[in-house]
Parts: sequence; structure tokens; C-alpha cells
Amino acid sequence: KEFGEISIKDLDQLARSSFPLCMRHLFDKLREDHHLKHGGRMQLGLFLKGVGLRMEDALAFWKAEFSQKVGAERFDKEYAYSIRHNYGKEGKRTDYTPYSCQKIISSTPGVGDHHGCPYRHFSEENLRAALGRMGVGSRAMEDVVDKVRNRHYQLACTLTFEAVHSSSCDAGINHPNQYFSDSHKILQP
Ligand code: SF4
Repeated sequence: KEFGEISIKDLDQLARSSFPLCMRHLFDKLREDHHLKHGGRMQLGLFLKGVGLRMEDALAFWKAEFSQKVGAERFDKEYAYSIRHNYGKEGKRTDYTPYSCQKIISSTPGVGDHHGCPYRHFSEENLRAALGRMGVGSRAMEDVVDKVRNRHYQLACTLTFEAVHSSSCDAGINHPNQYFSDSHKILQP
């Protein structure tokens, strides 16, 4: 992995500093509800694999949350398989790759789902609140909302990146894992 393996204890801090909004939202919801539906588990699970969370740590991380909701036994029975599957350890043993922005933006989250791209799928009110929690100031927020109104979701994400890192992102954001690695380069050069 590009940045070496990351450990579970660093996840909360990394989520705040370096996750794009789509992943931060899933991460926060998982911590809050101790549960995510299938689409969210896939989107966040493959992202975490992409940033360097090993399979054993991924299993421990998801189990710690889901156990609080469904119990450890049910986690082992119903959910552990799909995590091992993401890592290519079950089924066809495909090594699944993390989702790109394009794929996430074109997904269609239903009621109770938290996957998708917040720039596309949140109401303006919810988006503004989420951007505020990320530390986006009012000027930058208007620019972000303007991009969203014109359906330039990845540009909106790029402007958010630039606002929270006080640094330019000339290439633009096209993948959540690219957002993470670009952030990492700025914060821990
Ligand atoms: Fe995630 Fe991409 Fe949407 Fe940014 S533009 S929130 S990285 S899907």
C-alpha cells in the first residue's frame, strides 16, 4: 500500500482530516448507528481497503460497530463474509477495487442509505451543515454550492478539498482514494 498500513486507532483522526465528504459521512453514520446498509458497506469498505486497512483490522473494525447493533454472533454469520469477499478471500476471489467518483455519483441511494456522493445526493441544507462541520468557511461554501447547482459535483469536492487544506488541487478530485492520498501528502509530507 502506498502509505503503509493504517491502524484502527488512527481512523477517527484520519476521517476528520483526510476523508472526502462521502466517506466521512459513511464513517460518522457507522459510528452513530453501528450499522450501514449494503451500499454503504461496499463504498466505505473498499475505500478503507484502498487507504491501507488490512483485512484483519477491517473485520475487527466492522465487528466492533455491528456487534453493538446486531451482536457479535450475527456479525460473524451475516456480515464477515462480505468483508472477506471485498478483500478477495471469498467467492470468485476477485480483488475488488475502491469505487471512483463517477461510480459513486451515479449510484442511487434509497431511504436509509448513506452511500452516494453528498454533493449530488444531499439536500442543500444538509450539504451546508456537513460542509460547516468540515470547516468550510462561508465564502468557500457559496462557491461549492454554486458548483453543485451547476451539477459539477467533483469540482465542488475539489473546492472543498482546497478550502479545508488551504492548498490548491490542480488535478481535481476524481477518486475518493485520490482525495485521501492528496490530503495525506499535504498533512504529512
Ligand atoms: Fe466522494 Fe468523489 Fe463525491 Fe468527493 S466527488 S464526495 S470524493 S464521490
